[in-house]
Amino acid sequence: MAMDPLRSPALLYVTIAVALILLGSGLVLWRLRQRLLRSEHERRRAAEELNRRLSELFSLQELSYVLSDSLELDRIVEQVVRYAVRFLDARGALLALVGDTPSDRLQVAAAEGTLASLRGQKIQADDSGLIARSTAREHLELIRNSGAEPTEIVKGFEAAAAAAVPLRSHGIVIGTLIITDPREGAFVPEDIRLLSTLATHAAVVIANARFFEMVRRAKEQWETAFDALSEGIAVVDDEGRVRRSNRALASLLGTPLQNVVGTPLGEALLGKPHALHDLLAATRRGDRPAPLVARSERLKRAVRVNAARIPGAATEQSIVVMVEDVTEQQALETQLVQSEKLAAVGQLVSGVAHELNNPLTSIAGLSEFLLEQKELGKKDRGHLQVIQEQAERAGRIVRNLLTFARKGSAERVPVDLNEVIRRTLSLTGYDLKLKDITVERELSGALPDVFGDRHGLQQVVLNLVTNAAQAVAENPRERPREITVSTWFDGQVHLRVADTGPGIPDEVVQSVFTPFFTTKEPGKGTGLGLSITYSIVESHGGQIVLEPRGPRGGAAFRVDLPPAPADAVRPELTPVRGTPTVTASPTVKRTILLVDADPAVQRTIKALFARDGHDVEVAGDPQHALDLALRGGFDLVITDARAMAPGKRGTLLAEELVSRMPALRDRIIVATGDVRPTTEETLARLGVRYVRKPFNLRDLRVEAARLWEATALS
Ligand code: ADP
Repeated sequence: MAMDPLRSPALLYVTIAVALILLGSGLVLWRLRQRLLRSEHERRRAAEELNRRLSELFSLQELSYVLSDSLELDRIVEQVVRYAVRFLDARGALLALVGDTPSDRLQVAAAEGTLASLRGQKIQADDSGLIARSTAREHLELIRNSGAEPTEIVKGFEAAAAAAVPLRSHGIVIGTLIITDPREGAFVPEDIRLLSTLATHAAVVIANARFFEMVRRAKEQWETAFDALSEGIAVVDDEGRVRRSNRALASLLGTPLQNVVGTPLGEALLGKPHALHDLLAATRRGDRPAPLVARSERLKRAVRVNAARIPGAATEQSIVVMVEDVTEQQALETQLVQSEKLAAVGQLVSGVAHELNNPLTSIAGLSEFLLEQKELGKKDRGHLQVIQEQAERAGRIVRNLLTFARKGSAERVPVDLNEVIRRTLSLTGYDLKLKDITVERELSGALPDVFGDRHGLQQVVLNLVTNAAQAVAENPRERPREITVSTWFDGQVHLRVADTGPGIPDEVVQSVFTPFFTTKEPGKGTGLGLSITYSIVESHGGQIVLEPRGPRGGAAFRVDLPPAPADAVRPELTPVRGTPTVTASPTVKRTILLVDADPAVQRTIKALFARDGHDVEVAGDPQHALDLALRGGFDLVITDARAMAPGKRGTLLAEELVSRMPALRDRIIVATGDVRPTTEETLARLGVRYVRKPFNLRDLRVEAARLWEATALS
């Protein structure tokens, strides 16, 4: 029998259950499908994102590859801007940099596309545009898309859409990177992220390039200074070999710069490989050794060497060595010491010489006087002759000493040095000929005058020629006996006296200008010639040097003198005065006033003139002398230069006499033993005659005879 399912409740339940199950499964399947569809979409999006990131990564890698290739700032900024345009698909981009120093402004360093015209533009601090704002607000990343207001990039320049990212290095904003006008119409957040990555990367490379530039510039400055120094500088290694050298050192060593590197400095400088060993070793230990001062025979110069350690890795230490050429400085110091020595000796000498003047005048004068006595025995005459000769010799020495002490001669006129040489050589000519000595003259035809004292300069030439003559006179037969006297001008007037003698041994060189230094036997040399010469040359503002030995051996002295000022007038040369004849018993009897405090001098002069039949009145003090002179009637007044006008300090008696009785001017002879040039200056100004103590009686007689001759003529 068939059954109606609807009537069967069990079947109904089963049917409902099946239907429900079917419905549930359908729902689950639908959900599953939906989920599958969604994950497919996300996968596609993730793949797209991945692609995009990969492409960014490759682009950045490409950029970093390009940037790492260069440290040139200009090239780097150009590249950054070019890549920014490309990566971000923009129409314009620029990179602006803040200057290195506060005074340097923000400036557009590179610009492309629609912004190209802004390249090089300086941005004012108060500019309201995006460039200035972006660098001012440190962390800002700006984005403005078109549709809204246009963006001002810099005052007077706008763009529809723009994005800016500041460039930061070590926490400091060094510039900004800006892109404008996206081709897609708008910038999206991903663009800004990429721009930011680009900016971070660019900032690092730009900062590096700037550091590199700074170091390069510092190195350049250091190298310029290194080469500009007049002192020689070298960096040497452990072995003392030169690693670097400046130009000054190369030129001191006389070697091209490139050849100095690698040479051992001790050898190159002082000719000995270990010459600098101690100095370098002490420096390496960290001591501060005293500088080494040495004369380099190789370079013929004196050098001072200082060293300092360059801090660095202990394994490879460098030392910097400074080399100064102190040849001139040493010469100056020696000259200074020499001048001081001379000044001290000069003072001593003048005091002694002064005291010797009067006794010597008396000894020479009285012995000369006695020699004229007819009744003298032959033996006594011989003894007296010796006394007189020796007194005269002593007198010559004292006169020399006084010349030496008499610093700065009174006379300063233009003098023709060639003329002085000719005169001096004609004086010595006979003597030199006797000794078979030839004198070569190489006198410049265009020699300016020097400014000075003719007698002093004559003494210079005479001393040098006398020394040269004494030197060549000792030559063996086969060696020529030659003296060469030359003059030339090269801004200074030069005189050289060179000889073919044995030359001056090294151990003597230091002492030749020292007073009383002589290598000659007693009677031949006093050791004063060169020191006197030195004083005279120095008082003329010049210098005298012993030149290094020339090819012909022998000694050569060179004198350098400044030329006379262009406006100085050369005085007429006075003709050499003939010696008047002095007769033993004059036809005219004269009255003479003698002013001298020394009884020995009084006695001598009195005896001299009394023998000639003249009257001599003696005044021991100036007041007495003045009284006698005012009484009048004297044909001659002989007065000591030390006699001063009574009651007037600093005025010579002679001056007082002339001012009171002008007619006496031509009748006064002053005996001066003074070393002060002022006394002779005063006498020259007064126009009175003078004889230098110690004088011999002949000198005084001759001077007196001249005076009378002159007054008789007038
Ligand atoms: P002196 O000639 O009286 O000795 P100097 O002062 O003139 O005094 O000279 C000092 C020394 O210098 C001399 O003793 C001599 O040793 C040396 N000297 C000077 N000139 C020469 C020369 N032309 N040749 C060699 N030696 C010289």
